[in-house]
Amino acid sequence: MGRATGKIPIFALMTADRLYDALHRCALTLYGTGEAGAIAFFILEEMFGIDRTSYALDRHQEVDATGLDRILQELAAGRPVQYITGRAWFAGLKLEIGEGALVPRPETEELVRWVESERGPGSRVLDIGTGSGAIAIALARRLAGAKVTAVDISAEALDIARRNASLLGAELELLQCDILAAECRASLSEAGPYDAIVSNPPYIPASEAAEIHINVKEYEPAGALFVPDDDPLLFYRAIAPFAAVNLTPGGAVYFEVHRDFAGDVADLLEWAGLGDIEVRRDIHGRDRMVRGVKTVEYAG
Ligand code: SAM
Ligand code: GLN
Repeated sequence: MGRATGKIPIFALMTADRLYDALHRCALTLYGTGEAGAIAFFILEEMFGIDRTSYALDRHQEVDATGLDRILQELAAGRPVQYITGRAWFAGLKLEIGEGALVPRPETEELVRWVESERGPGSRVLDIGTGSGAIAIALARRLAGAKVTAVDISAEALDIARRNASLLGAELELLQCDILAAECRASLSEAGPYDAIVSNPPYIPASEAAEIHINVKEYEPAGALFVPDDDPLLFYRAIAPFAAVNLTPGGAVYFEVHRDFAGDVADLLEWAGLGDIEVRRDIHGRDRMVRGVKTVEYAG
């Protein structure tokens, strides 16, 4: 096979439907049919510039498929499509994403909707463990005039969050901070109080790693996902009392939780002195979110 110079080599040209088929077949080795189709289209659009409409209108159009081999290898190895393309959709926003941050999940979008439904414009919001900035940016854009602070222990994640905030025109205050450390909580306390504290902290017990899909376990940052088996609630235990002190009256803390621990987290919020505690299910019917309110105290 000859190598053309200065032009697209002949062998890199493919029709869009053949390209789609190659991606789809490869994705099917690791994912179910619906997801494999979505993955194939996402790559087609992000990396080859063919969106669904263009595909539907002319599936025989010729595409420069340079780079396809590498993409297929990565896909087959379980690299998440968001890391392959460098893009992830969250709450109607296209985020830039890299291995330094968790790929934002649909369940987390449900958490954002819950916060949005209960908080007004101008709210002061704190997002703990912001990762790609997904929660913080979505709330900054949805709650007009909100003042949003976002923290993460990972400098890499903060770089990604900073880029996303600037690309999406969200004003965030980003801080590198270990929420398990007293000095971090003290400085956040000084910057408070907050009308909403939101967190999707690491919550998967380390021993569950064996059951997790290869694309999560092998590619996403372990520090974003896992907690010790003997102390799976450590983040909630640090954040709940912090929230009880640093929320404005009527303010609330919103957590994403492991499906087996919603009850324990609800108990923790009660123990910390919060009220109106509610557990909500995600779209899969799993207990996934918990909210607690700093109820207003009346003197006398
Ligand atoms: N908020 C993002 C989302 O929902 O997609 C990321 C959530 S990810 C499950 C948890 C995040 O918490 C990671 O970005 C991780 O770096 C951060 N994190 C882990 N330990 C932390 C700590 N001690 N203090 C602050 N952030 C921490
Ligand atoms: N929901 C994510 C998963 O299943 C985990 C997020 C987290 O640990 N906070 O991979």
